[in-house]
Amino acid sequence: MRVKCVICDEIESIENDTLVAKRLRNRPIHTYMCDSCHERIAKKTQKRIATGNFKLYRSRTEEDEW
Ligand SMILES: [Zn+2]
Repeated sequence: MRVKCVICDEIESIENDTLVAKRLRNRPIHTYMCDSCHERIAKKTQKRIATGNFKLYRSRTEEDEW
């Protein structure tokens, strides 16, 4: 099946029996990201975590204990 990356609009074809393809079929709204964009975003997120600007949501139970 052919999928379009939401970030760079690149069209890629993926195997029909992959997990990603199945997910996209079940939820057509589910957006697809190509590998390079996915990597770029992952790096950006890691950088934000490193600088401390990125707040991770703590689980409710942890908050209650505190
Ligand atoms: Zn892309």
